[in-house]
Amino acid sequence: YRKVCLPPRPKLPEPPDNSDMYLVKSPSTPSFELEQLKFEEVISRGRYGEVWKGTLNDMDVAIKVFTASQQAYFVNERDIYLLPHMDHESVVTFFGAEERVTPEGNVQYLLVMSYVPQGTLTAYLKNNTLDWSFLCKMGYSITSGLAYLHSEVVRGDLTKPAIAHRDLNSRNVLVNSDLSCCICDFGFAMKIKRNRLLCNGAEANVEQATLTDVGTLLYMAPEVLEGAVNLRDCESSLKQIDIYALGLVLWELASRCSALYQGMPVPEYKLPYQAEIGVQPTFEEMQLLVTKNKARPAFPDVWKDTNQAIRALKETIEDCWDQDGEARLTALCVEERMLEMMTLWDHRHKGITPTMLASGLENLE
Ligand code: ADP
Ligand code: MG
Ligand code: MG
Repeated sequence: YRKVCLPPRPKLPEPPDNSDMYLVKSPSTPSFELEQLKFEEVISRGRYGEVWKGTLNDMDVAIKVFTASQQAYFVNERDIYLLPHMDHESVVTFFGAEERVTPEGNVQYLLVMSYVPQGTLTAYLKNNTLDWSFLCKMGYSITSGLAYLHSEVVRGDLTKPAIAHRDLNSRNVLVNSDLSCCICDFGFAMKIKRNRLLCNGAEANVEQATLTDVGTLLYMAPEVLEGAVNLRDCESSLKQIDIYALGLVLWELASRCSALYQGMPVPEYKLPYQAEIGVQPTFEEMQLLVTKNKARPAFPDVWKDTNQAIRALKETIEDCWDQDGEARLTALCVEERMLEMMTLWDHRHKGITPTMLASGLENLE
């Protein structure tokens, strides 16, 4: 393979590219009356902006606020949300984007989304344990969201291109009241078109700084840490990088699933690799651990292989974070496996009837 650097994360706004085969905007660009938007409280203050809880026409919303210097991330994220057919139950709902000038005269860029009440998956797992069916339900919904992003969707005259998320982690997964999950934060996401063009375009915007972003660093695939992503097939490579991160997110879910511990206490929530390397590893430490030593978060001994459901879960996670990107599962395949897994446990341990099984599956949707 030709080994070249990962297409870096966008630093400058991608110029609107109307020449390509996809329509950038849906026919009716969502927008709203700025006066109807009310800010209530800050939910999160990150490197790339603030997120507020607020209301829009009395509906709860999340408002992501970018300053003028973060315009590139705003444009990138907005343009992902504006792609056709981005409505999916496992992708946060987008209501619109606006620019405003604060009373102090500063330009701000706003993205308005549905407010997801239970917050991030990280926070949820810190405070809660899961039973097997919720592990499967949450894993399934995250995976189906990623599979949808990764797919090209042609409906009517409009095509949603495949999208690589590039920053999948448990802080960018939000938990609904019914514990289904949705994916957010498309600040680094990329449309995958006919590969070569996209990769070449992105190569112009080298940015090393984001590599030291710890939240992201923990989820970096071995080939990313090594700076050796195979760009001959850029589409597959970017998806494989997302799947590696998905494996870590599934491991996080599993680590808080009471069913796996056979009545023993469920250990406190830990980030992936936290047990191995602490919460603030350096880039070099991660490189050594993940790329060179090929380490992965551990499966506790009590997760018994004699239970076929647990075995299937472990195998799926391992097949997501394989050292060799090409050996990793596709998101669609993981989605199917998550669906099967729920029934595996039920068959063996509860002996439930096919009818109950069928209604259990309906509840997933
Ligand atoms: P950043 O690029 O700064 O990470 P995110 O889009 O991930 O921005 O949002 C940051 C945080 O804000 C999330 O991790 C989550 O805690 C919260 N958040 C974002 N969107 C929503 C939403 N729609 N509903 C509830 N909380 C949200
Ligand atoms: Mg985020
Ligand atoms: Mg982000």
